[in-house]
Amino acid sequence: MPDRTKIAILGSTGSVGVQALDLIAQFPDRFEVVALAAGSRLDLLADQVRRFRPRLATLAREDKLADLQEICGPLGIAAAAGEEGLSQVATHPEADRVLSAIVGAAGLKPTLAAIRGRKTVALANKETLVMAGQLMLSESQRSNALLLPVDSEHSALHQCLRGERREEVSRLILAASGGPFRLSSREEMEAAGPQEALNHPTWDMGPKISIDSATLMNKGLEIIEAHWLFGIESSRIQVLLHPQSLVHSMVEMRDGSVICQMGTADMRGPILYSLTYPDRWESPLPRLDLAAAPPLEFYEPDSLRFPCLGLALGALEAGGTATVALNAANEIAVAAFLAGRVRFFDIPRTIEKVLEKHAPVPADSLAVILQADEECRRWAEQILMKGVAA
Ligand code: NAD
Ligand code: MG
Repeated sequence: MPDRTKIAILGSTGSVGVQALDLIAQFPDRFEVVALAAGSRLDLLADQVRRFRPRLATLAREDKLADLQEICGPLGIAAAAGEEGLSQVATHPEADRVLSAIVGAAGLKPTLAAIRGRKTVALANKETLVMAGQLMLSESQRSNALLLPVDSEHSALHQCLRGERREEVSRLILAASGGPFRLSSREEMEAAGPQEALNHPTWDMGPKISIDSATLMNKGLEIIEAHWLFGIESSRIQVLLHPQSLVHSMVEMRDGSVICQMGTADMRGPILYSLTYPDRWESPLPRLDLAAAPPLEFYEPDSLRFPCLGLALGALEAGGTATVALNAANEIAVAAFLAGRVRFFDIPRTIEKVLEKHAPVPADSLAVILQADEECRRWAEQILMKGVAA
């Protein structure tokens, strides 16, 4: 039997993590799970531990470590917690590939640890590239660690760019479903609560990215992600709404040829690509039936109803820690919206205020990035407490 690919998963109990494990279970001869890290869901992590028998399991919540040890101990599996646990999973000596699927800024340090540990990193955690794109890239070059996108659009771009010369690319075209409010009026969006905003028409994802999809901040974060992954400036990255979510993104070459990647709206496709690259495996996933597919539509996004797109572009152009400020304010405002504390457009209003207050500096070290992140989170909380309109 050929060697199995040994996988460590950061964020195994989330939407991406669970889908990855579902896929991994379908290839027992080719994948092996060596380490799992979760946030707080002990019950689900315990099921995963019993099923996949990793060498190590960790929880962010240190107060639940004794319970985790009770489950892992009799199975001969090591248990850990907190930041130290995350770092152990990210750098597990047996892991060939690390799937980085924690949501938000919490994924930054373990992803960096995996890169520094020379792992091949399958990167779902886009906030990491938004906050620290330059650092991630320079560290991955230095340690010769491969960074492979999991995000469906960037997986599509990666596939379209295989074998193409970078200087012959004229632009990247990111596909966006448009989210639940694609056809809603501004008044309807302002009145919407978390339930309406979470109701994504084509993708089933975790709560934070679902709200990001409703504001289109997700696409803004993805422009920044694409900029770092593919080395293309923002003026050559276009967003097109494509409600069918079957074309996952496109590359226009300088001769006018447009190359697109298509597939069903199923994250397991890009996850599998990131775990098997440069190979492609025979996949058990449902195939795209083009003859049965609806007509494909493409539209320009409306910047008035979706101001987050412009805020993200502005932050990328401002450079340095401006994208750290963007991400921090967005995370705080989205959490407040999910908790029912603020209204939908308070999300872009908060981000705009934090970006106005923040004076960007070069984002060239982890310390600078974390300091800007902490400060901007505090400001965002203060702005929300005072009432965004104040
Ligand atoms: P999710 O909320 O469903 O899962 C997040 C995971 O991170 C959980 O396992 C949670 O326990 C863990 N986690 C959260 N905070 C943690 C902490 N402080 N320490 C350790 N673990 C922690 O999120 P998701 O939808 O799976 O998204 C994960 C990442 O992938 C995000 O960055 C998202 O933007 C990106 N992404 C997701 C999808 C998708 O289809 N869900 C698609 C593209 C990109
Ligand atoms: Mg995406």
